[in-house]
Amino acid sequence: MPAAVMLDQRPTAAAPRLRRNPFRLGVASGDPSDDGFVIWTRLAVSPLARDGSGGMPRRRYTIRFQVATDRGFNRVVRDGQTTATPQWGHSARAVIRGLQPGREYWYRWRVQGHLSAVGRAVTTPSPQQDVGRLTLLQLSCAAFHAGYFNVYRHAAQERADLMVHLGDYIYEGAGRDDTFRRVLGPRCETLADYRLRYAQYHADPDLRAAHAAAPWLVTFDDHEVANNYAGLDAGRPPADFAALRARAYQAWFENQPVRWFSRPSGADLRAHRRVEWGELASLHLLDTRQYRSNQPCNLDFGDCPERTSPARTMLGDSQTEWLADSLAGSEKRWDLLAQQVFFGRRYVDEPERQGYLMDAWDGYAHSRGRVLDMLDPALGPAPRNPVVLTGDTHAAWLADIKRDYTATDSPTLGTEVGATSVASSGDGYDSDGRHPFMLDNPHIRFHNALRGYCRLTIERTAMSVAYRVVDTVRSRDTTMWTRAGYVVPDREAQALLVADRAPSSDVARVRRAPDDAAAATLREELG
Ligand code: FE
Ligand code: CA
Repeated sequence: MPAAVMLDQRPTAAAPRLRRNPFRLGVASGDPSDDGFVIWTRLAVSPLARDGSGGMPRRRYTIRFQVATDRGFNRVVRDGQTTATPQWGHSARAVIRGLQPGREYWYRWRVQGHLSAVGRAVTTPSPQQDVGRLTLLQLSCAAFHAGYFNVYRHAAQERADLMVHLGDYIYEGAGRDDTFRRVLGPRCETLADYRLRYAQYHADPDLRAAHAAAPWLVTFDDHEVANNYAGLDAGRPPADFAALRARAYQAWFENQPVRWFSRPSGADLRAHRRVEWGELASLHLLDTRQYRSNQPCNLDFGDCPERTSPARTMLGDSQTEWLADSLAGSEKRWDLLAQQVFFGRRYVDEPERQGYLMDAWDGYAHSRGRVLDMLDPALGPAPRNPVVLTGDTHAAWLADIKRDYTATDSPTLGTEVGATSVASSGDGYDSDGRHPFMLDNPHIRFHNALRGYCRLTIERTAMSVAYRVVDTVRSRDTTMWTRAGYVVPDREAQALLVADRAPSSDVARVRRAPDDAAAATLREELG
């Protein structure tokens, strides 16, 4: 929708005066193109108002924005206005167009004389531009109740080109007294519940800093709606769940810097999309929740014939076709599939239990095979350097993507990079990179369960992966370092270990891996 369509011509002088600055939820930019990006904010004078209103009068507010080529706003290149209405939770978004490719911009909002913080955005390079490098941070799973957002604070300091969030941005569960930080409200059910939850998250200074620092590409996983939902399957009547999903998706849209095509229509919205970075890279953002079949045999863990049935789907037909077209036509150096759940095989063979974690791609083996077909140069045009980005597990992983995960001599098609959580599950633990799953799944090459993110530096000749971790999320005073580094050379597929830094002795707070790390991982992922 062009910016002009959003202009509200009605007089707004009657909107009650806001005596406090209403920009308490920060500012954000997202979904950049080579001539613009989306900017976002949401007005709230009292973010923690229990009715989810942010303390805003039920009136519409005219809100103005500026985009400049300098942080001091001496050279403003765009300005305009839009409205923040109670129907959309007093969120505001503007699509900025007509900017120059491949450069930084700064933006801010104003309402009734109150100014917002300044945010930094970037446009993507044009296809003609010679692009040296793309730096992106891969983030997931930020349970506010489990720890401070130290990881977001460090992310804000990286001056990255993009922040890619793979979901579990909020957790929908009820506030409890026994958590590290208390979230307000019951388990999210109403639109007001979700709005309050997002407001509490956005009010966090570290999350605000991360949003203001760089444009975000936001996806979602299950906890933006309800634990482990699959399509309209969530252990309650489908009509009930569809109504819940509609409310949750509306709140997601209100609270994320995404484009208008991601505006929900009832219980549906379009979140899968592609962002191109010159000729260097494409990011294919996937939605593995909305269209998927239920977990096989309704199991969280185990095995059953349904697991490999071609009748079941992870992406749905239309997204699958879109991805196949996108990848077959790609002439980029690097193609990144930014998605939620673990892609590679993780067969678990423990004394008490054998099987697969069914919420991940293992539970959708046929769909995984379809994606592997798209990545396999033996079958036709395939991306030059495919990379799968994964969230969800609350641990960092690196794994080879194998044409056939059950055959060790099968070709490696690319690399799967799994990011640990921002805060979910609290501090986690350090390990030497090994994990018991590797015994039966030799394509898995690195594991670590400290909190952090992955920093990907993508260049024509190689992609570097830095596993950035913090020692603790239970104190704001924290240390961040690169726990491990890998490099994937162009057309090599196989990642090489280039750095391995155990916590130094002065970082005394780091917990060591438990004796039974396999059981710990199963506990973590099965909840
Ligand atoms: Fe999570
Ligand atoms: Ca999840």
